[in-house]
This record gives sequence, structure tokens and C-alpha cells, in this order.
Amino acid sequence: MIRKFLRKVFSRKAPASEPNAKLSLSIIPFKHHGIRRNQITPCALKTATALQQAGFSAYIVGGAVRDLLLGLTPKDFDVATNATPEQVYQLFRRSRIIGRRFRLVHVMCGAETVEVSTFRGQSPDDGNDHASVQLTDQHGRLLHDNVFGSQEEDAVRRDFTVNALFYDPAKEEILDYLNGYEDIKAKKMRIIGDPIIRFREDPVRMLRAVRLASKLDMQIETETAKPIGDLAPLLQNVPPSRLFDEMLKLLLSGHALACVVELRARGLHHGLLPMLDVILEQPLGERFITIALKNTDERIRQDKPVSPGFLFAILLWHEVLSAWDSFQAAGEKPLPALFKAMDQILAIQHKKLAIPRRFDAIIQEIWSMQPRFEARSGRKPFRLITHPRFRAAYDFMLLRCESGELNMELGEWWKSFLSADNADREKLLLNQTSPIKRKRKRSRKKSSSSLAVPPDDSAKNEDG
Ligand code: ATP
Ligand code: MG
Repeated sequence: MIRKFLRKVFSRKAPASEPNAKLSLSIIPFKHHGIRRNQITPCALKTATALQQAGFSAYIVGGAVRDLLLGLTPKDFDVATNATPEQVYQLFRRSRIIGRRFRLVHVMCGAETVEVSTFRGQSPDDGNDHASVQLTDQHGRLLHDNVFGSQEEDAVRRDFTVNALFYDPAKEEILDYLNGYEDIKAKKMRIIGDPIIRFREDPVRMLRAVRLASKLDMQIETETAKPIGDLAPLLQNVPPSRLFDEMLKLLLSGHALACVVELRARGLHHGLLPMLDVILEQPLGERFITIALKNTDERIRQDKPVSPGFLFAILLWHEVLSAWDSFQAAGEKPLPALFKAMDQILAIQHKKLAIPRRFDAIIQEIWSMQPRFEARSGRKPFRLITHPRFRAAYDFMLLRCESGELNMELGEWWKSFLSADNADREKLLLNQTSPIKRKRKRSRKKSSSSLAVPPDDSAKNEDG
């Protein structure tokens, strides 16, 4: 009783910038937040309920609660509990323990997977005994985060206040230790704790801030945003595979264009898209990326598929163009020069961005098919449209036309060719003989970016 009284007296709303301040818990009832338990997917509900029935506490946490409060459909549901990963694993027949830096359990029901994490303890500088188990590198980056803690500590370990709400499906209540509910209403992305420490611990949080602010139409709060420019170089210490995952999330968020613009404005693109400066400084490159990302965002919002390979082919294209130019200037023939340029750019990106090799084939096909769109006589256009990757390469070529890199007339010709029947296609064919060849050779001298290749050369590449 006395303890309860003292707690009441000394508890106060802790500003999120004071990591060790005593937190006060707000419990938000259904009549305020309006989230019903039937808005939770069956698998997440089943997982949380089973844990609670086994005597553990279990809550829906993170992005799902945030998205529901904002009227958005959550991408996935996460559960947080005081059960250890082993205890969770014991409880669910279809489950597995995953992760090293952050151990958690995947519980599977049908096609759905729910991520269950055990409440995490506080950061290394919190003065607690368990701090020694958490290791950071010389830049303050957390290498392990497997110290378990209380629910309150778990809230503090999360990244932004809007991501630190706990929803109890049994009581239909939201538990809020950090004013996340108010920040959601005010549309503010506020980091929990000292922004410098938290971004040092995990520089990817800076990218998350940008991505989530764009996706949720929120502002990054001033104190949170302040150190981002200075700390941006820390992204270089993040393992490339993690950067790649985050980059993919960003590009497939449906807000890729806004994110890329914001990343550049905050100086965060060097670690992620080092080529962005170069590309965006050339008017053609900027137009190409802008049109392409706008296109991608629309497709995603319409639930149409987007291939990551296609996206990377876009992002790297102007790098390939300039390498292609250099190889030709050094005396290589157009096609071998293109292939050398492709190899060079992919090799650089494998190191920096860890683009998995499984995407290489489609990226290379899209690029290497580009010269073949220039051949509009004989059987070549007929052969080209039967290529399994024709559609992707064609969409890519149209983007190049739209951006002004290629003459729009080429795109229009291909549109007509595709919509015509076979007899009309024959009529559309150009009588491409030597005069055109000559003209192309001249234009190639001027700029190899015109992608001109003599029809003979392109034939070598027909089935590649
Ligand atoms: P979305 O799934 O919409 O991309 P999210 O916030 O749900 O956004 P997840 O990667 O699913 O992102 O993470 C789930 C939760 O885990 C987050 O809401 C946050 O509470 C916590 N979290 C994720 N990444 C970090 C991080 N780098 N540092 C601290 N907490 C994190
Ligand atoms: Mg999520």
C-alpha cells in the first residue's frame, strides 16, 4: 500500500529524452482507442491468448498497434511476452527459435507467422547489473540484445514512442509508458531516450525514422531529427545484409520516392545509395529515378507486384551508363563495353549493398536487352517479344524514353508494335539498312548513352 502510494507520488510522465527517468503507465481503455480484438489476425490473437492462459503476460506490440490506431492495415503482428524464447517454443507445436543478435520465436498458424519476443532489458549505459552482457562496438552499436527485462524496460528499449504501445487483446486495453499514444495523435516520430545514444546503438533507426515518417505521414520530432546528419556516417558500420533488408523495405513501402528524397536531404543516402548524389545531380538521372519510383509507388498502392530486381536495375542504370561510356571511350565495342560495365557496377554493389546474387540474373537481363529495342527491322522485334523477360525490359525502356534518355518515338513505336496484329506488325517494321546504321554510328560517337548498336551486334545477344 505504502509502496503504491510512494509510486504514485514519485511517478511522473518521463520526458522521452531522459532514459532513466521513472516512467508512469497510462492505461488507455477501449472507449478511447477503439481497437477491437477482432482487428487482430487469428494467429496473433491465438498466440497471445495461449501465452496468457499458460500464465504469462502477452501483448500485441509495435507497428501493428501503431498502424491500427492510425487506421492502417498492419503488415504483420508481433507479440511481446515475459515468457523466455524456450518457454514460448515449448508452448507452440509449430514454432521455431530464430535470430542471434536478437533471439525470438516464430509461431506459425496456416500461412501466417507471428513473431514473439521476450521483454528486453535496458541499454548498456543504464547502470544495471545486466549491462555487462550487452556488448557495443567502438561506435556504441549494440552487438547483442538478448538481456531480458520487465515490460517497462521493454518499452524503453524500443525505437520510437509510437512503436512502444502494448495492446492487451483480453482486456482490449493499451498500455503506454512513453506517451506514444499522444505522439501518434500529434503525428510525431520521437525517439525513446537520448537520440545520440539510441542512433549510435543502432544506426538503422535513422533509416527507420525516415521510412516510418513517410509511410505514416508523420514529422520526425525536432530533437530526434537534430543529430541525424552528423551520425549518418555510422551507417557504414552496419552489416550490408541488414542495410539491404532495410533498403528493400524502404523501396517497397509505397513511399519510395518520398523516402529517397528525405534520405538525401538528411545525408543518409551515402551508406545506402551511395550513387544517389551522382545520379540526382544529372538532370536525366534525376528524372529517370523520379519517374521510376513514382511508378513503383503507384504499383504497390494498387497491390500490383514489383520486382526488387527491376528496382535495382533502375537505381543502378545511370552508373552503368557512365561506366559503359568510359569503356567505349577506351576503345571497347558497344556490346562488350556494356557487359563490362554491368559486371563492374554489380561487383561494386555486391560489396556495398549486399544485393543478393539471386537478383543478378534479372538485373543483367533487363540491362542487356536494352540495345535490342533499337533493332526494328526483320525478325528481331518478333524474337524480342517472346523473351521471358521482355515485359520487364520493355517497361524499363519506356522509363528511359519518359525520362528523356531515349527518343519518345522509340517507345511509341514499341507500343504500336505490341498492340498490332501480326499483319500490321509487318507494316510497322522499319526498312533498317545501312543508312540507319551509319546514322547510328555517328550518334554513338556523340554519346554512347543513346544505346545505339548496329543490328548485327544486337543479334549476338538475342537469347542472352
Ligand atoms: P513495419 O513493420 O510497418 O515496417 P514496425 O515498426 O512494425 O514497422 P518491425 O521491424 O516489424 O517494424 O519491428 C517491430 C517493432 O520492434 C517496432 O515497432 C519497434 O517497437 C521494435 N523495433 C524494430 N526495430 C527496432 C530497432 N532497430 N530498435 C529498437 N526497436 C526496434
Ligand atoms: Mg512490423
